[in-house]
Amino acid sequence: MGGNRVRFKKSAGLLLILCFVFIPVVQADKAVVTTDGLIIRSGPGTDYSRIGQVNTGKELYITRVENGWVEIAFNNGSGWVTSEYVDIHSNSSDGSDNTNSDDGSNGLGNIFIQHDNTHLRKGPSTSSDIIGFANKGEEFNVLSEEENWYEIANDEISGFIVKEFAASHSILSSTGLEDKTIVIDAGHGGRDVGAIGASGTYEKDFTFQTMKELKKELVILGAEVVLTRRTDRFVSLDSRTSLANITDTDAFISIHYNSFPQTPEVTGIGTYYYHKHSEELARSVQESLISKTGANDREALNEDYHVIRQSFNPSILVELGFISNPEKEQLLETNSYQKQLVSGIVAGLSKYFK
Ligand SMILES: [Zn+2]
Repeated sequence: MGGNRVRFKKSAGLLLILCFVFIPVVQADKAVVTTDGLIIRSGPGTDYSRIGQVNTGKELYITRVENGWVEIAFNNGSGWVTSEYVDIHSNSSDGSDNTNSDDGSNGLGNIFIQHDNTHLRKGPSTSSDIIGFANKGEEFNVLSEEENWYEIANDEISGFIVKEFAASHSILSSTGLEDKTIVIDAGHGGRDVGAIGASGTYEKDFTFQTMKELKKELVILGAEVVLTRRTDRFVSLDSRTSLANITDTDAFISIHYNSFPQTPEVTGIGTYYYHKHSEELARSVQESLISKTGANDREALNEDYHVIRQSFNPSILVELGFISNPEKEQLLETNSYQKQLVSGIVAGLSKYFK
């Protein structure tokens, strides 16, 4: 690491002058790198670990400036570079000397946080470090967006939040999921592989992937999540429903995928309920699933499936797609589509609880 420091010092004389010229422009949004091999670090100091390197001319998106260090968007997360080796270009290039007005008219507009203690993360992933918290009603400027994440910043902090936690106007509403107990039933498992996909994939693996993603989102939104299986193991239908019945379940969701190998062109999403008291939940989730994915609507229908018949609290079974359709099978394997499915389920639950 020391070697790089030495290399940087070569042209430090000139660059130090530049640094004094440019540092006051804190409302800027772009940094153009002025040296080759500029180290990107995980924090604002040379003690932080190296996470990347960029060369002269590279444009970096600034999220914050702090004590001679510039935080920039990097690799779906953020990193820091010393301000000595970047030219900072202000977003407001109209020549007026603008007085840091708070209306946040730059970037992608403003959003308002919907919940107290919303996690601000270093990158657009729930496995990314939490770097701060935002509270209900706080306003942020949106710097970028990606799938279901916003990169946001205000005068104090920047980070990534799940879009679901933000609204474009300050209606202080909740998702209705706080403290709700949701039982997620990942269909099949172990020796029961479920349906078999066009390329030989197993339904049990798709249901497991969706369960994990759904669990993550629901936990973020404050729900209590109970799982009928946490690993790839066989669980009888009766154990699944008895777990849901002994738990104070607000909603039971059994996750499945379909396969019609004889008619691989068939696609779509359907949601099933058995008891009348589950119909509203089924309709709400089905509607949101279709609106979030644009999938073929196979509707919310009454069906006699064991897990929804024997679960006495509101319970539904979702068939999230046809793995017998080769294109859908591929799409369903992608994390981004899984997130779309999950955002549909979450939106449907939220609507139902409200
Ligand atoms: Zn199934």
